[in-house]
Amino acid sequence: MKPKVAFFDFTSCEGCQLDVLNLTAAELLDLLGAVEIVNFREAISNRADDYAIAFIEGSISRESEIPRLQKIREQAKVLVALGACASIGGVNCLKNHLSMDDALRTVYGDAAKYYDTIPARPINAVVPVDFYVRGCPAQPEELIKVVKALLLGKKPDIPGFPVCTECKMAGNICVFELGKTCLGPVTRAGCNAICVTGGRHCWGCRGLVDEPNVDSEKEVLRKYGLTPEQAVEKFRIYNTYAEAKK
Ligand code: SF4
Ligand code: SF4
Ligand code: SF4
Repeated sequence: MKPKVAFFDFTSCEGCQLDVLNLTAAELLDLLGAVEIVNFREAISNRADDYAIAFIEGSISRESEIPRLQKIREQAKVLVALGACASIGGVNCLKNHLSMDDALRTVYGDAAKYYDTIPARPINAVVPVDFYVRGCPAQPEELIKVVKALLLGKKPDIPGFPVCTECKMAGNICVFELGKTCLGPVTRAGCNAICVTGGRHCWGCRGLVDEPNVDSEKEVLRKYGLTPEQAVEKFRIYNTYAEAKK
């Protein structure tokens, strides 16, 4: 019998789920051959409560989301955070720099009184998370890797080293040489440094490596005449929650 898989969205743009649907037909058929998807709001209309693996997209930013997530955790044997919002809080945590009243008024204006909000947080701040599919959006190829590992009863092989390693393997010129900042030295690899290869820099969407060498990042900044503040500004886009925990 194929394991039943459910996808759920919390506070998110739903881009991670959308990207799952962007898998090639062959990859989707492979996935559907291995598991039975019983909840996936963006793709199917049926709903079921007897799933074994739950993929959670989005962060938690309302009180009402907490019991909903806890209920999913109780049901799922395996819970996987899907994407930056779920894994590290992501862009939703930018509002945590404001008071919640100010955040509500900024977004909803006079209608703010009809809404509630709490500081945004990743899924693992509320319930235990078994595995992560990282990135903004989450990489569908990594999702396939995680599903395959789960089916084989293995731990998925997700890199613990920094983006710089893949960036150098891709043959990129380091953006520090061009006077820009980059979070590659402290960000978890697994994306093949796609942003640098595409002509930009790393914003840190895959979250920090397990033991980020912050001193080394500062040393790199100093070497190129840049300030830690210039890096912190980039760091905040995805990693506000981690920053607040320090
Ligand atoms: S991680 Fe990015 S793509 Fe995924 S839900 Fe959050 S903002 Fe959207
Ligand atoms: S700092 Fe950024 S651009 Fe430089 S090697 Fe690392 S990931 Fe690549
Ligand atoms: S290079 Fe950085 S920002 Fe771009 S996908 Fe990789 S981790 Fe995310």
